[in-house]
Amino acid sequence: MQDRWDLSFMYEGFDDPKMAADLESVPGLIESAKAALDAGLPPKEKLEGLYDAMNNLERTLERLGQYAWMTLAVDALNPQAAQIAGKVEVLGNDANLILSALKRYIGSLENLDEVIASSEKLSEVAFALREMADEARHTIPAEIEPWILQMSLSGGSAFSQLRDKLDSTHLVTFRGEDIPLSAARAKAYDPDPDVRREAYEAEIASYAKMELPMSYCLNSIKQEAITLAKARGYDSVLDMTLSGSRMDRETLDALWTAVREYLPHFRRYLRTKARLLGHENGLPFYDLFAPVGQSSTYTIEEAHDKLLREMGKFTPDMADFMDNAFKQRWIDIYPREGKTGGAFCSSIAEYERSMVMTNFQGSFSDVSTLAHELGHAWHNRCMTGLPSILRNYPMPLAETASIFNETMLSHQCLASCKPEEELYLLENGLMEATQTVVDIYSRFLFEQEVVDTRPDHAMTVDELKDAMLRAQDASYGDGLQADCRHPYMWACKSHYYSSGLNFYNFPYAFGLLFGKGVFAQWLEKGADFVPVYNKLLRSCGSDTVANVAASVGIDVRSADFWRSSLEVIRKDIDRFCELCEK
Ligand SMILES: [Zn+2]
Repeated sequence: MQDRWDLSFMYEGFDDPKMAADLESVPGLIESAKAALDAGLPPKEKLEGLYDAMNNLERTLERLGQYAWMTLAVDALNPQAAQIAGKVEVLGNDANLILSALKRYIGSLENLDEVIASSEKLSEVAFALREMADEARHTIPAEIEPWILQMSLSGGSAFSQLRDKLDSTHLVTFRGEDIPLSAARAKAYDPDPDVRREAYEAEIASYAKMELPMSYCLNSIKQEAITLAKARGYDSVLDMTLSGSRMDRETLDALWTAVREYLPHFRRYLRTKARLLGHENGLPFYDLFAPVGQSSTYTIEEAHDKLLREMGKFTPDMADFMDNAFKQRWIDIYPREGKTGGAFCSSIAEYERSMVMTNFQGSFSDVSTLAHELGHAWHNRCMTGLPSILRNYPMPLAETASIFNETMLSHQCLASCKPEEELYLLENGLMEATQTVVDIYSRFLFEQEVVDTRPDHAMTVDELKDAMLRAQDASYGDGLQADCRHPYMWACKSHYYSSGLNFYNFPYAFGLLFGKGVFAQWLEKGADFVPVYNKLLRSCGSDTVANVAASVGIDVRSADFWRSSLEVIRKDIDRFCELCEK
């Protein structure tokens, strides 16, 4: 099996004359877009012209950028790729300024609905145009926007970079040896209990070195967010984030209401895992990721066969699609020197292709990662033919197809696995679900407290630690040992420090539970649900989150829908506890 992906459908290499031609064409495309913006035409003709000009510009930038970024993902030191990526970034800024101006223009049109109705081309993307008009009401006045952008470079964005430096240079002294923070945290998965505990103790002790600068980063980034929310006319940072996520408060409240109801079940799982590992009074933080049970290992050929067999039970189309992704070399499979860690799926809409990068080493979790990433690819396939502006789904919906696939794979495997593997499969899924539901809830509570307190004063290190412990108490409760939690979770999670992205937590809980809720519908309805599911995926970028869900009969503003998702997890918790008691 070919184990490296094939990007030659875009360019034959960095010396491909097509690439030089594309690069040369970009300044002209930017000028065309600017000219379309300045054209003294009636709104309908002007918008249609702009639509085409922006599409041409974006398609070319995507082709160049994706080729460079994907090359860097598997060959981090490739100098030609770095050069192209840098150029595309600068050109992308020009495109963004045109986009801001376009939003302001759309926002200034009093008869936008009439203009949209008068054009077939514009009607197709009506949702995106109305959203831009709405965003225009929340943009900073044009005269001061460049200054605010400039100041953020020395403000939030600078603190965000400082955070990355602090994190990447931070060393933890573990058993007499200095190791990176990420390596110390990875020891939480070690089969040896002493390694897990000692790594945790070493990690906690190490934060004294960076807690103060880190607290300045957090206080400053959140203060900038509070200022920006005000300047853009939002009531709060959370409202600004929800609006960017196309979500409403009612939906978020319904989600958290159901989550709070099910916290006792997660705590039951944690206490059972604790007893299995020989702890009384809940799980110590350092054993949250302790491996349990026996896992099989897979060659890539076995993983391929397993995916086709199990995912084909959803629909044979899915099996064919996955087989095709392997055959057409959409996947870069194994780890190698210079290749980045983790996994992702990236779509190149112009070619109707998705490229998947993984670091496959043969565990069940690696097979599940393939199912996850190919779920994203399936999502992209369901959007075939849509204008690119309707393919940008908001973060809460972004993980629907990937979580659906993961859940489907685990469900099918549990139905046919050997008894010794059942415990492993259940626990592996529950460990992840606990992170995405329980830990994410604690992160949400913590961030809420920071943005509520920050306008009054910058929080001290001790205040931040206390707030984190309070948040963990409210979410993990007696599932975790009272004296063994993690007061520094704010210092090690990068999500709090993305300047411009706030509450980068609830979309994960939404994504996991939405994917599970959709899966629950498939369980109930079977084959009839397949076209409904595909329609749902197709519409993810074409409306608000609540409307997309409502189009297939799901009411995300009702706690009942979220309860149905959590029920899928509760059944696994029940079975896990039953197996442990045996
Ligand atoms: Zn994903």
